[in-house]
Amino acid sequence: MKFPLSPVIDVHQACLQKLNHETFNHRRLSASVLRLDLIHPVISGNKWFKLKNYISMAQHANKKGVLTFGGAYSNHLHATAAICHLEGISAVGVIRGERPRELSPTLIDCENLGMQLIFISRNAYRHPEELQKTFSHQYPDLLLVAEGGQGDPGITGAAEIMELHDFSGFTHVLCAVGTGTMCAGILRKLKNGQQLLGVNVIKIPSGENNLSSFIANQSSRATATLYYDYHFGGYAKYSTRLLTFMNEWYSRFDMESDFVYTGKLFFAFDDLLKKEYFQQGDNILLIHSGGLQGNRSLPTGSLTFETHN
Ligand SMILES: *Cc1c(COP(=O)(O)O)cnc(C)c1O
Repeated sequence: MKFPLSPVIDVHQACLQKLNHETFNHRRLSASVLRLDLIHPVISGNKWFKLKNYISMAQHANKKGVLTFGGAYSNHLHATAAICHLEGISAVGVIRGERPRELSPTLIDCENLGMQLIFISRNAYRHPEELQKTFSHQYPDLLLVAEGGQGDPGITGAAEIMELHDFSGFTHVLCAVGTGTMCAGILRKLKNGQQLLGVNVIKIPSGENNLSSFIANQSSRATATLYYDYHFGGYAKYSTRLLTFMNEWYSRFDMESDFVYTGKLFFAFDDLLKKEYFQQGDNILLIHSGGLQGNRSLPTGSLTFETHN
């Protein structure tokens, strides 16, 4: 991470990049990627949209800053630290697990950005409601933000992603799904007949579950389908097949992806293409939600492109 951080978050940098490949011409399909990864060198893609309302809530309520939760490589913590740094407000990060001897590159950045880190046992971390209660007592002058920016302010912020361009010509929108907050926001803005395909990066059983009913309740117009088979073993798990695919995607489209979210999204898209899921005339939008800093947890040399931020 380079200091000083650029003070500008420019959502207009989020261009629509058309994917040019013979498969698409051959099958009379179009596909484009919304490059949310380009809005800021450090504040990653969808995290800006999910956090912006919380930051202004904290400022309006005269809080000193925000307190939030995440793991050692969390994009959410990283983005929160960077935004708070730029806004000149405090940030506290509650980290899952004991403090390791060597901090991850993500947490080193968070500390350099002025975030105070509090490490708690994985056991205690499993009870988010109790944690929130404890920390709101301990830090009354901070706004508590749930992990991943989950909650209505996060969803309405994410919905603004769909105001960046005119997306009415797309038949399908594909995005990666963690907490489902971004996906919920996008779904709220889709028009009649548009379909959202959400690619789960967490291993959860398919069929009826809390996430699927939460998503289904977001819109009466557009439909959403969640995919459960592209997690590669679970959250932040990967295989050489995934990394090879990400390298291929990079050489094909000159586009970096991360192994936790967007790599799995693009893999799912490619797999659905191969299975002839899409039909002639379909116009597909893929959301590049950022998150490239997470690649720093991979062994060096795993990828043909180097993630610096
Ligand atoms: C956090 C994150 C997501 C998941 O967003 P949710 O709103 O939690 O579903 C997707 N992509 C990237 C790159 C992320 O960092």
